[in-house]
This record gives sequence, C-alpha cells and structure tokens, in this order.
Amino acid sequence: MKKDYVPNGSDVAAGTYQCADCGHEYSNQSKKSLPPCPKRLESMHLLNGWKILSGQGDAQEDPYPQQSDK
Ligand SMILES: [Zn+2]
Repeated sequence: MKKDYVPNGSDVAAGTYQCADCGHEYSNQSKKSLPPCPKRLESMHLLNGWKILSGQGDAQEDPYPQQSDK
C-alpha cells in the first residue's frame, strides 16, 4: 500500500498540505518542516501526517485552487 502522506516533521518545500486525519488545510509558505496539526488535540489523530495538495511531490489529483505562489 502506498503511503500518500508525509509525517509531521518531514522536510518539505512550500506548498499546500492537508491533514491526513482531519482534513485541515495548511499552507506552508516558509517552513522547511511540517508542524503537527493544530487540531490534533480536538479530535483523534492517528496518522499525524500531511497529504500534499500542491507544491512538491506528485499528488496532483486534487484540484484545489489554493495555490497562491507568485
Ligand atoms: Zn488534523
């Protein structure tokens, strides 16, 4: 089974990420590593990772118009 998310703390490029557990979207503009989900205390988080919506990687199947880089 292919893992389609990256765990917290992974080194990443700027882009948009979505919590693998709760779906919270996070735009990473400058950080070099992924933080824990800010909502992880509000609900059960078992994966503790982020799906890549835009930016690096090859996960381009989600047509989110969130990209705001220039
Ligand atoms: Zn979350």
